[in-house]
Amino acid sequence: MKRKVISLVMTAALMGSMFTACGPAAPAPAPAPDTSAPAADTTDTADTTDTADTADTADTADTADTADTSSAAGKTIGIAMPTQSLERWNRDGSYLQQKFEEKGYKVELTYSDNKIDQQVKDIEGLIADNVDLLVIAAIDGESLTQVLADAKTNNIPVISYDRLIMNTDAISYYVSFDNYTVGKLQGQFVVDTLDLANAGDKTYNIEFTAGDPADNNAGFFFNGAYDTLKPYIDAGTLVIPSGQTTFEKVATKSWDTATAMSRFQNILGSYYSDGTQLDVALCSNDSTALGVTQAIGTDYAGSNSVIITGQDGDVANLANIVDGKQTMTVYKAVANEAVATIDLGDAILNGQTPDASLIDNAGWNFDCAYDTSSYDNGTGIIPSYLLVPTVVTKDNIQKELVDTGYYTLDANGYPQATN
Ligand code: BGC
Repeated sequence: MKRKVISLVMTAALMGSMFTACGPAAPAPAPAPDTSAPAADTTDTADTTDTADTADTADTADTADTADTSSAAGKTIGIAMPTQSLERWNRDGSYLQQKFEEKGYKVELTYSDNKIDQQVKDIEGLIADNVDLLVIAAIDGESLTQVLADAKTNNIPVISYDRLIMNTDAISYYVSFDNYTVGKLQGQFVVDTLDLANAGDKTYNIEFTAGDPADNNAGFFFNGAYDTLKPYIDAGTLVIPSGQTTFEKVATKSWDTATAMSRFQNILGSYYSDGTQLDVALCSNDSTALGVTQAIGTDYAGSNSVIITGQDGDVANLANIVDGKQTMTVYKAVANEAVATIDLGDAILNGQTPDASLIDNAGWNFDCAYDTSSYDNGTGIIPSYLLVPTVVTKDNIQKELVDTGYYTLDANGYPQATN
């Protein structure tokens, strides 16, 4: 596939970061997720020695076909995911497991029930089992310094998966989506939908709901959205009746749906019960959007349709989008995030020091940027592979999610994830 490699400077307003962006000249269809992913083990480390599913040749072809699978022989990948209670991590865990196994690696997969101490113990267990590579999506980005010092002592490379792990020099690479852009897309969606640039004297009321302060991503999402909307807030076109404008005020511990719901019920009770119209609920992700949508369903007196944003494409939220209860979500194809992680891990275990060239060498059919300036974890910049998120609304669910193979539509027209 012909590829172009361009260097570009990320806008100063964005991150002041410089990175190399690589992508296909024309977008290629995303990989169809495999439908036979094994059910993930819930808590214990699952040493999965099952033979890899060879039926899904499409998926296999997505990872670098140049990879030397001999590096996989006898090697084990330790994968630490945060929780099964938030939908996406089930998809991440099973994709990563499946695709590493297709390469010939053994996999130990842990979920830590969103409990920080549990995740530390789970990672200690993976280190004790002599895994050859750790792939970690942290529950609390600040709490893994000690255990990852042990990983470093044992020469185990670590890929920080989706969420940046802070204050440790044990991290080799970070793989994620461009988190600031996720927030920008949400903010821009509001700007475009309300045509804020031409609002004149018209004003709109907005409330923000952000993610878990322990998750380094959460601030990026919030800032991306807030920075995009700030000119309209400053101009008085967007009004925030609750006055809750800082990340600290609008954050949601553990990204928990019930927590987001009760906070929003309080906001509706305190600032909107007099008939004040709510126009926008800017939510950083789908688990929080679900709670906010429930609060609006039960506690909002108005009859207008509130613009509600989200992120992930959780099944319940996609059903709400079909039903017109949520307006958009920012979709991040975790299958592609897994592919990038597998090829990166494979290269590391082959003794390489991957850089921007991995993107071309791997031949991915999705866009990805190699970024060496945006993500400083407190010990220095962590080289990052950043994938590109997509806005999904009722109008493009078919094109972006169904035609690409990530979801099918059930008999009622609701998207169901194919893994
Ligand atoms: C992920 C989001 C997800 C959130 C809650 C974040 O770190 O990037 O995709 O919605 O965690 O699970």
